[in-house]
Amino acid sequence: MRWQLRIDPTACTGHGLCADLLPERIELDEWGFPIIHGDVGASLAGHARRAVRACPALALRLETKPRETTRRERS
Ligand code: SF4
Repeated sequence: MRWQLRIDPTACTGHGLCADLLPERIELDEWGFPIIHGDVGASLAGHARRAVRACPALALRLETKPRETTRRERS
């Protein structure tokens, strides 16, 4: 299973805590707002959940990534 991080840009206040807790997937832009890189696999899921819980603005979410369908399943 894989997950994807989502940021609500209207709620995010640029604390930067998420990037401190999950530097493998989140970096900050020049104004201190997060940029997400890639999906979250099982090895990082715990760290990602911790970053979500720590966000003081409740702006960070971790969603289950929909499984990609194969060509055979589509036909
Ligand atoms: S911790 Fe929350 S408010 Fe702070 S930069 Fe990350 S998403 Fe935005």
